[in-house]
Amino acid sequence: MSQPKKKFTPKKKFCRFCDNPELPLNYKNPEILADFITERGKIIASRVTGTCAKHQRALTREIKRARQMALLYYTATHSTDVLKKSKI
Ligand SMILES: [Zn+2]
Repeated sequence: MSQPKKKFTPKKKFCRFCDNPELPLNYKNPEILADFITERGKIIASRVTGTCAKHQRALTREIKRARQMALLYYTATHSTDVLKKSKI
């Protein structure tokens, strides 16, 4: 018996920073910012993460600050995770 095709229903996107105003959005919390960048270091688009325009702008600014402070990496070559995986 064939299973009925399950229709893909994407989870409703929401802005994490609007949802939880207590969530700190600054360069001092790189572990939160790290959720919004790819493993290659790219900032993920708001249409993917669901972050609102206001917070996406703030997020971009804080990620760039964090990179400047060496709390986040610019590219994968500087990421310790990727270095471990590729065993350079
Ligand atoms: Zn927001």
